[in-house]
Amino acid sequence: MSYQFDTVKVSGGYHSREHNNSVGIPVYATAAFDFDGFDHFNSIRAGEQLGYLYSRVGNPTVAALEARVAQLDGGTAALAFASGMAALSNTLLAVTGGKGRILSTKQIYGGTFDLENDVFPSIGIEFDLVDHDSSIEEWEAQIKEDTKAVFVETISNPSARLLDIEALADLAHRHNIPLIVDNTFATPYLFRQIEHGADIVIYSATKALNGHGNAIGGIVVEGKPFKWAEAKFPQLYKKHWVARDLDDNPRSFIEAFPQFPFTAFLRTKYLAYFGASLSPYDAQLILIGIETLSERVSKQVANTRKVVEYLAGKSDIVSWISYPEYENSKYKTLADQYFPNGAGTVFTFGFKGNDEQVNKLIDSIQLFRYQANVGDARSLLINSPKTTHGELTPDELTAAQIKPETIRLSIGLEDAGDLIADLEQAFAKAFEN
Ligand SMILES: *Cc1c(COP(=O)(O)O)cnc(C)c1O
Repeated sequence: MSYQFDTVKVSGGYHSREHNNSVGIPVYATAAFDFDGFDHFNSIRAGEQLGYLYSRVGNPTVAALEARVAQLDGGTAALAFASGMAALSNTLLAVTGGKGRILSTKQIYGGTFDLENDVFPSIGIEFDLVDHDSSIEEWEAQIKEDTKAVFVETISNPSARLLDIEALADLAHRHNIPLIVDNTFATPYLFRQIEHGADIVIYSATKALNGHGNAIGGIVVEGKPFKWAEAKFPQLYKKHWVARDLDDNPRSFIEAFPQFPFTAFLRTKYLAYFGASLSPYDAQLILIGIETLSERVSKQVANTRKVVEYLAGKSDIVSWISYPEYENSKYKTLADQYFPNGAGTVFTFGFKGNDEQVNKLIDSIQLFRYQANVGDARSLLINSPKTTHGELTPDELTAAQIKPETIRLSIGLEDAGDLIADLEQAFAKAFEN
């Protein structure tokens, strides 16, 4: 039986009968699992039987989260990590196999930008960064012999820029490389990447997936089986002793897990050894958050539209608005094509004040909170160039097209009128003499 999205979000990936009929998903607070004997251990190890060995590699509470998100995204499997950055960095390491290049954009989350510019190159993985709005030909021109993947954000952080995901998927596939997408801002409620051609989807589950700002987590979803070329991705074809069958014959991950070779490899070689595993306590919080994903995000989108409309009428204070649905946005066509349920709940605007007035604005908000998160049930305001993208030098900020006057809003579940009134009073205080 296959269920619709809203059914999956409350019941996918969990069968109470397998857990003493517990309606709430239990927190399996355990490091290790008892084996009935060697045969039991061996069949779990070889993947012949569902079971657990040690919570760094797999845990039933975490597995329920993985299965639920895989179903929500229409993927074949998913793998949770201790944070979005862990999900992202382990995925990029695994797909390159430790060498080669990745094609990405300059308009991306600040931590990711620094990772791509500094940390990865220091260990031999290079990034070619194109401008977000480049034509497909310009993207293609940057694909080199050893480019292993295209990696982008669906709705970019902070300024909510969109990309033509289907065109990028086609491009990647013509070059036999996967399209990897950070879908954090959209969540599977607003955009199901895999249906549009993405091969691997990454989430910071800290953000809107959970929505309650009470846990850090990350998830990687594997799409339909990708045709991994052996010459470019030998790591998936190499026979590994850890992937051996019941009779101790070494196997490749492609052989052992044909439906989801990438996440199986990622779990066995990267999650297990770099060890950034999600705690079952946090998995439970994220699972509870996901139960209301559609209801939360749809109201947050409705609130976002009202706040954008309010800001659009404040030309004395607001110089520009970067929200894809906004009539002046160059992403309006893509928003209409790909985001019928709304183009997210995070956007930026240009504030016509000097540094001191920005600080006054921040000091004056009462309902909006000043914090570096997004997708929370509570609305947040932040001066991105100095905070969420504070890793970028002034030159890098220019390249990333993040102007100094940028204010980022993440709209929550409050009453929209209260949010607008809060901005109104804070703007007035910012410009008081
Ligand atoms: C927050 C964020 C991340 C990092 O996630 P953490 O859970 O904080 O590690 C990655 N990508 C995007 C788009 C984000 O907003």
